[in-house]
Amino acid sequence: MANMSLKKNEMPMQEADVRNKNFSEVTLGYSEETALDEAARCLNCKSAPCMTKCPVAVNIPGFINKIKEQDYEGAYQVISENSSLPAVCGRVCPQESQCESACTRGVKGDPVGIGRLERFVADWHNEHAQAAAEKPASNGHKVAVIGSGPSGLTCAGDLARLGYEVTVFEALHLAGGVLVYGIPEFRLPKAIVQKEINTLKELGVTVHTNVIVGRSITVDELFNDGYEAIYIGSGAGLPMFMNIPGENLKGVYSANEFLTRINLMKAYKEGADTPIQKGQKVAVIGGGNVAMDAARCAKRLGAEEVYIVYRRSAEELPARREEVEHAEEEGISFKFLSSPTAIIGDENGNVTRIKCQQMELSEPDASGRRRPVPIPDSEFEMELNNVIMALGTTPNPLLKTTTPGLETNKKGCLIVNEEGLTSKEGVYAGGDAVTGAATVIKAMGAGKLGAKSIDEYLRNK
Ligand code: FAD
Ligand code: SF4
Repeated sequence: MANMSLKKNEMPMQEADVRNKNFSEVTLGYSEETALDEAARCLNCKSAPCMTKCPVAVNIPGFINKIKEQDYEGAYQVISENSSLPAVCGRVCPQESQCESACTRGVKGDPVGIGRLERFVADWHNEHAQAAAEKPASNGHKVAVIGSGPSGLTCAGDLARLGYEVTVFEALHLAGGVLVYGIPEFRLPKAIVQKEINTLKELGVTVHTNVIVGRSITVDELFNDGYEAIYIGSGAGLPMFMNIPGENLKGVYSANEFLTRINLMKAYKEGADTPIQKGQKVAVIGGGNVAMDAARCAKRLGAEEVYIVYRRSAEELPARREEVEHAEEEGISFKFLSSPTAIIGDENGNVTRIKCQQMELSEPDASGRRRPVPIPDSEFEMELNNVIMALGTTPNPLLKTTTPGLETNKKGCLIVNEEGLTSKEGVYAGGDAVTGAATVIKAMGAGKLGAKSIDEYLRNK
């Protein structure tokens, strides 16, 4: 019988004043009992509106039915038909604006906790499934994948399952892209990403780290080495700055550098090779997921005061609602309608404060968006030790400048057709390198499309 409770089952989590001092995972996942109770809220709707909002069309009622039958491995198999990283998506997908936003139960009350159920199933599989993935027989064709984020990994996995000999080239010393260098451990434990990468290796995928395509080897040289097709999933890792005075002072970081030092190079540990400057007063400029992650990391590093400085109001914050709530609970303060105009330092070049301008929102323009406009004579200052810029990222131009025939748009994103094919024959692309900074699930969807198109291309070649 359906559970008609209007409330979604809560997920247990670490207390806010405990978790803001450690890097362990914040949310602790459903127990089997809670997962069964939550699954019983699903009405198994015939039209499954939830599925229409999933970028990779996971069979949501299908996997929830398997949970109801207590066939958790079966549920995992249903999800795996469309998603190669369920333990990741169950944790970081913005379900509130995707599947759960269309759930019938959400019309009156909370939607079904689809993301929490997906995480339960994936964690159950990771804990109980013993068998290693079987390596398919090789079809003798070699494909190169550039970048090991969710897009590259998904493409590599799908091609390996079809028998292709896939090699992933990754610029950093660890595979995983933003999943390892950006999203902090307390939201996505690195062991989960490592497990997914190990599964790909069992399928026969080779991963070469510390290889920057465009520097160590070019795209054309990869073709000369016998790769018959290439998938570019190189992400959008180039940080943007405000171009205001003082951005080169000591103590100013891009969120990318700050998070990479913490996540990938364990800078928060005593005696780590890569140090990090730990300030008592920290401001993070921006209002997206990246800003929330940087602010919450700064707090965990011991900062007494951490501010999110955002030029619009609370309603316009682009970060996931859940991340904003978690940040507030952990003691992060928000300075809305505030825009920095200068960063000021002492005689040694260390940050001491920032100057900000108070903003107000204009009347909605033709697109309905309210622009932030400065209020005259409203400048104020904040005393600070660190400023972290989380203003967005764009794709690195290296691949475009070293690959004749590869075209990008005005924002530096690779141009692809509906099959994911770039302007260069045999070169496909997807994920943030094509869309600009987006989401894990969209990058995975593009990786799937890339694999399908490469398979068709090589079959017809
Ligand atoms: P990436 O994950 O960026 O991977 C690209 C990889 O390519 C990198 O490892 C890079 O080192 C490598 N590379 C680049 N150039 C080269 C080269 N020339 N040669 C070899 N390798 C190269 N999305 C969500 O859905 N939910 C979230 O909660 C969320 N939180 C986020 C938090 C942070 C801090 C950040 C930065 C992003 C977040 N995102 C989130 C966005 C999401 O992580 C990205 O949209 C997604 O990772 C894009 O995947 P990708 O595979 O296209 O690129
Ligand atoms: Fe279940 Fe909600 Fe999907 Fe209906 S819309 S099938 S209730 S998850």
